[in-house]
Amino acid sequence: MVVKTILARKAVNYEQLFDGTKKRIKTFIGKFEEIEIEKVIEMTKDEYEEFKSDLLKNRDFIKENKEITNFLVKEIGTPESTGIIVVTEGFDYPRYTGLTIKEENFHKCSRCGKYFIGEPAISRKDNQSEVCDACGLEEAMEDFGHRVMLEFCRNLQDKANELGLEIIVRAEDGFERKVVPYK
Ligand SMILES: [Zn+2]
Repeated sequence: MVVKTILARKAVNYEQLFDGTKKRIKTFIGKFEEIEIEKVIEMTKDEYEEFKSDLLKNRDFIKENKEITNFLVKEIGTPESTGIIVVTEGFDYPRYTGLTIKEENFHKCSRCGKYFIGEPAISRKDNQSEVCDACGLEEAMEDFGHRVMLEFCRNLQDKANELGLEIIVRAEDGFERKVVPYK
């Protein structure tokens, strides 16, 4: 079983893990972790509550399974998505912990290709593709830049028309175009 998560290093307890994950969900851009769960540990309600209250304690299930580094710990009879992902990296306590993040909460930015979570921005290019916040902002800046440039060239052309001059804009790749019709 492979689960998607954002791992936290040395989260003290479940509350800290949950709050931290919520915060990171808002600002997350990058690559999420895909963890291959090697063993699922099921606990009674009381055991699981105790586990959640102290995520930095050495645990028997980790010591007893030294060859395994990726666990999913959950309460008996609950869905796997409610459990805590534990990556030990050879330590006897849950060095890294994470919560399962659902597939539908990940968006792929159509502009930079990175994954992000949280509310997508809508691209100005087609008014429908989803882009990350950073790209949304960049697009807005580009858009603004183009409008300012176009305005500048129009004013320039208006003046140039009086003198019978044609304004041509040449792009870096050599492509030339008239910004506004030359009268
Ligand atoms: Zn992006």
